[in-house]
Amino acid sequence: MASRHSRRSADVVVIGAGVIGSATAYQLALTGRSVIVVDKMKGPGQGSTSASSAVVRFNYSTYAGVAMSWEAKHCWERFRDYLQAPETETLAKFHRDGLVMLDVPVAPVARAAALLAAVGVPHEVWDAATLSARVPALDTRRFGPPKQLSDPDFWAEPTERLGALYLPDAGYVDDPQLAAVNLAHAAERAGAVFEFGQEVVGVERDGERVTGVRLASGSVIGTSATVNVGGPWSSRINDRAGVGADFRVQVRAMRQEVHQVPAPSSYSTDAEPGPVVADLDVGTYVRPSAGGNMLIGGTEPECDPLQWVDDVDGANLNVTVDRYEAQVTRVARRFPELEVPPTPRGVAGLYDVADDWTPIYDRTALDGFYVAIGTSGNQFKNAPTAGVCTAQLVAAVEGGHDHDAEPVVVTGAHTGLAIDLGTFSRRRPPNTSSTGTVIG
Ligand SMILES: Cc1cc2nc3c(=O)[nH]c(=O)nc-3n(C[C@H](O)[C@H](O)[C@H](O)COP(=O)(O)OP(=O)(O)OC[C@H]3O[C@@H](n4cnc5c(N)ncnc54)[C@H](O)[C@@H]3O)c2cc1C
Repeated sequence: MASRHSRRSADVVVIGAGVIGSATAYQLALTGRSVIVVDKMKGPGQGSTSASSAVVRFNYSTYAGVAMSWEAKHCWERFRDYLQAPETETLAKFHRDGLVMLDVPVAPVARAAALLAAVGVPHEVWDAATLSARVPALDTRRFGPPKQLSDPDFWAEPTERLGALYLPDAGYVDDPQLAAVNLAHAAERAGAVFEFGQEVVGVERDGERVTGVRLASGSVIGTSATVNVGGPWSSRINDRAGVGADFRVQVRAMRQEVHQVPAPSSYSTDAEPGPVVADLDVGTYVRPSAGGNMLIGGTEPECDPLQWVDDVDGANLNVTVDRYEAQVTRVARRFPELEVPPTPRGVAGLYDVADDWTPIYDRTALDGFYVAIGTSGNQFKNAPTAGVCTAQLVAAVEGGHDHDAEPVVVTGAHTGLAIDLGTFSRRRPPNTSSTGTVIG
């Protein structure tokens, strides 16, 4: 993708060309605004998006969260239409393999099912016998709460069994970075301009209104509206803009590892893929991956220290033996036929975690400065809708709407669902229904 340096002002500057920044730029450009996207990396989706497991599911702890994800699912299913992409463009693909979420106290199935029913998302509640019959590879015993490998109880043989929530329409997107590239191409077709290899180091203001962004090169792009979609770097960008004092929810970067191992054929093969399994009972999630593999990620179990990161640029993005052994051995309890290869493979990445694991899609106290941040390891799936929501938020507020007093409500184009952006306000009381994990 060529960088262009000719236009040095735009109606809106988007900081960050990850999956959410690119979707935001696309939707803003569709509203007829001139848009410049600035990213310090060399192309779209090279930040935290590149490490994403890209699981698509609909169980969140708020109505707006469920509605947003259900609306986004329709965009992934019709991704070419959403992008208005030519038939010749290779697109990231949504795999509808279903998702099983084990019933655990921290995320009870009954609570999730009630919200899914309210929104109208198809789901099934399975008892342990149904779970065994539908996913025979899986040992349905209650091993939790999650334990460290050194805990003598790790190898205990419990007898109680777990049921689950089943979401037939869930799944995953097979190439998260390609999804961001696809969105960036769509944004370009709609008129947005991308500038890569450029770091935003300052936000210019005239009193309480944004007037431009300053780049490391020293040049300034003039604009009256800027969206911070900086992923794990978002706090640093907010600091540079001098916003944050009125935020009731803070965000912070957290390191995570996702490992890849051969999937037991009883769970998943390329010809017969198994469902995604969200398993807070052992503190992991798994999903099928091409080549007969499976991806294994963590769900922040209490027994593991959280890996908060202050120096985002200095974070270790290699997998570690300790984390690999912990996550993969836990999954091996759930899938007895899983063989654990001796050498770790996988990726490490950073979440931009909000205190309540719920994103912030909002304006700020600085007029013209918006944020799409705090994506908490769970917003890849929502990117197509997050772009729509952020574009409508910018349009409403720039048009004079008082979003703080009367939050913008977005209507899903595919589902007709109302997505109340007040749920994602920077000034909300922290969401006490959240699981306090990546599930949100
Ligand atoms: C390991 C892992 C697994 C995940 N799994 C899932 C999942 O299964 N399902 C799900 O829904 N979500 C998942 N997520 C979360 C999801 O991937 C993220 O929410 C999403 O990718 C965030 O996209 P983004 O565009 O906001 O941020 P990013 O992709 O991080 O993009 C931010 C961009 O901003 C740029 N930038 C930052 N600062 C500046 C600056 N000052 N100047 C210029 N550019 C700047 C960066 O270079 C970067 O490209 C996962 C995340 C990780 C890390």
